[in-house]
Amino acid sequence: MAIHARQRAQQADTAAAAHEIRDVEQTTCCVVGGGPAGTLLRLLFARQGIKTTLLEGHADFDREFRGDTIHPAIMDILNEMGLADRLLETVPHTKVRSIIPSLRGPNPVAVDFTHLGGQFPYMPLMRQAEFLELLAAEASRYPAFTLVMGANARELVESEGIMRGVHYRAADGWHEVRALLTVGADGRFSRLRHLFAAPSANQDLVAD
Ligand SMILES: Cc1cc2nc3c(=O)[nH]c(=O)nc-3n(C[C@H](O)[C@H](O)[C@H](O)COP(=O)(O)OP(=O)(O)OC[C@H]3O[C@@H](n4cnc5c(N)ncnc54)[C@H](O)[C@@H]3O)c2cc1C
Repeated sequence: MAIHARQRAQQADTAAAAHEIRDVEQTTCCVVGGGPAGTLLRLLFARQGIKTTLLEGHADFDREFRGDTIHPAIMDILNEMGLADRLLETVPHTKVRSIIPSLRGPNPVAVDFTHLGGQFPYMPLMRQAEFLELLAAEASRYPAFTLVMGANARELVESEGIMRGVHYRAADGWHEVRALLTVGADGRFSRLRHLFAAPSANQDLVAD
């Protein structure tokens, strides 16, 4: 593992030399990926006063389609975070209480969320972009937080086998973020996981 880390560090040094780094930002935590995982994580960090920089590759949250349903268990988590009511009040949505697929057979399978009980016995259907925008707006209330859109993390910054941050490419060139903790929340085909050669738990799953 240490050998791999050294090889990667040498590769990163070579790559960094190949393009000019315009500036270096020092932060406590760098989160790569502004999907639901990354935006929620950086909100939690921001609330704790932990200086966090979030890098999202796309220019806005209306990125490739990643589903429009928020499951009841996720609503419970959002409720614990004090966000559920605001989400339902501000983001247009449809409350799905049951799903009856048009399957043939004597006993067609039906999903009935009302059996769940609790505060959210339904599944809100809303545009994920608006859900992410609400989380981003909430995090922006905290000073310890920086969001960089259009920031495509391409390389790790490593030294002595320790991951120190990333190089990202933006419209104006290359930048470096140095952090005590770097989190890859860049989806199921995570570039960071690949760069760090970390094993994947869900490579064979058809869905996230
Ligand atoms: C077609 C489809 C439909 C789905 N429908 C649903 C649904 O209805 N409900 C549900 O709960 N789940 C659904 N899912 C699962 C869904 O993907 C996950 O719930 C959720 O999107 C996973 O969140 P995430 O933040 O881990 O990853 P993602 O949503 O994939 O977010 C990763 C983010 O990282 C960014 N990124 C990637 N690489 C880089 C990089 N190098 N630098 C910077 N940024 C980067 C991407 O642009 C993206 O914004 C669906 C998935 C798919 C593919």
